[in-house]
Amino acid sequence: MFQKVAIIGGGAAAATLVSELLERRTPKPLHLDWYAGRPDAGRGVAYGTPSERHLLNVRAASMGMFVSKPGGFLEYAQSLDPHVKGSDFLPRKLYGDFLRSRVEQAIGNAHTFKHHINVVPFTADSLVPSKEGITIGYGDESAHADAAVLAIGSLPPRPLPGVQDAAMASGRYVTDPWPYLASASEDDRPLRVLVIGLGLTAVDVLLELSAKWPNARFTALSRHGKLPEPHLDSPSVPGDDGSDLIEALRDDPNARNWSKRLRKAMGLGRYAHGANSDEERAVDWRTVIDGMRPHTQSLWADLPVAERARFLRHARWAWERARHRMPPQVTDAVIKLEKADRLKRLRGRMRSVSLSPDGELAVLRALPGGNEITETYDIVVQTVGLNTDTLRTKHPLVRQLIVDNLVLPDSLGLGLKAQRDGHLLDHDGKPRANLFAIGSLLRGALWESTAIPEIRRQAQSVANMLVSNKPEKATK
Ligand SMILES: Cc1cc2nc3c(=O)[nH]c(=O)nc-3n(C[C@H](O)[C@H](O)[C@H](O)COP(=O)(O)OP(=O)(O)OC[C@H]3O[C@@H](n4cnc5c(N)ncnc54)[C@H](O)[C@@H]3O)c2cc1C
Repeated sequence: MFQKVAIIGGGAAAATLVSELLERRTPKPLHLDWYAGRPDAGRGVAYGTPSERHLLNVRAASMGMFVSKPGGFLEYAQSLDPHVKGSDFLPRKLYGDFLRSRVEQAIGNAHTFKHHINVVPFTADSLVPSKEGITIGYGDESAHADAAVLAIGSLPPRPLPGVQDAAMASGRYVTDPWPYLASASEDDRPLRVLVIGLGLTAVDVLLELSAKWPNARFTALSRHGKLPEPHLDSPSVPGDDGSDLIEALRDDPNARNWSKRLRKAMGLGRYAHGANSDEERAVDWRTVIDGMRPHTQSLWADLPVAERARFLRHARWAWERARHRMPPQVTDAVIKLEKADRLKRLRGRMRSVSLSPDGELAVLRALPGGNEITETYDIVVQTVGLNTDTLRTKHPLVRQLIVDNLVLPDSLGLGLKAQRDGHLLDHDGKPRANLFAIGSLLRGALWESTAIPEIRRQAQSVANMLVSNKPEKATK
């Protein structure tokens, strides 16, 4: 087993792994250094929002922190409010409180099994493997560990191509919406706001800013101009166990087959928004997507790299729309904004953003037919999905690992090359015995690797490997 372990990251993934490890009796006591970046870590990006408008997109019953206790969050929420139901979509802030309370409890009880934990309120900036293990650099200091786990979430967003320096410098072009939303104050000016992208983060931005800025008008621009699909009020009953579909996808692993089979199984187009009758629910397409979830990682593993690339080019947006859905309350709020004429959705692509002489942002965009048009906005917020492009990132630790040739970037920009169990690969493509990742960095290996149900499984499996007494076969 690895006795001294460095866990790097300040979000839900790191908090889950820390708690998994501290709550185990191990052959020898553990010494954990948690490089958390702050003293009260654990909420991370998703659950650090202070806004009650930002809801979980997974029902409360499925958001437990541990594989052994999937209903843990529901119990916590019901201890505060007995009216909460398992099918509810609760505020992410509450989930952050839950994560904090669980990790604090695990840290408080660490002595039960003689474990020791040191919460380092700094980010880890470098990792250097050595014969003895790994040296972690942070601030002006360094420390030693036998093994390290990267749980750093997705990478800081980068501005889209075409955004000019002056537009960035104006402070009106926002690449990272979360700190912006947290600090945005009430404003009653008639602001014109453009949101680029139309996923769940765009929806969070629209709900928050439309409440804080009651006279603002919003335009949302994306390739297809479509909102994420909505969840139904209550979970649907699957029509069958989905095994025929899974088998058909496995038999012919290519993106075209995936698209064809999925469209057919989902009866695509039949249920646009709000299919709520019993009849519709019995064959609800959502059950097809949700039913794939236990198999998605192994199906992805079967797809050759060229087919993965094709899937990302042609089907990613449709997958994300169907897979990451809006809670019903959120759907209602967005529809209300549209009906009040405060939100307009556009199809097209942003070509460039520049600063106009009078200090506004001039956005040039391509129209679906090929023409271009320029419009001006007061604020532009970029929400184009998770950044996992490790080759182009400025994230200090990831850069150092790549520049020093210690790990390999995924060739499709989906994190780092890794085994499916989380071992990162060295420059020869061999698994490193004592360097692991969980969460978004494993998207290339697993595709489905960002939400709590996947993260808690990864945390459990990496914890098992860390404390296992079996000799590690992977290379150092
Ligand atoms: C807006 C949003 C809503 C979501 N809603 C849901 C949901 O409802 N249900 C669900 O299951 N999933 C949801 N997700 C998916 C979500 O990503 C995961 O549930 C989970 O929060 C991921 O946690 P993480 O720890 O991997 O990443 P993060 O939350 O990104 O946390 C990683 C943290 O590590 C820090 N860090 C980075 N580098 C270093 C370093 N070198 N040293 C120390 N710290 C570092 C980062 O600053 C960050 O705070 C949502 C995601 C987003 C973005």
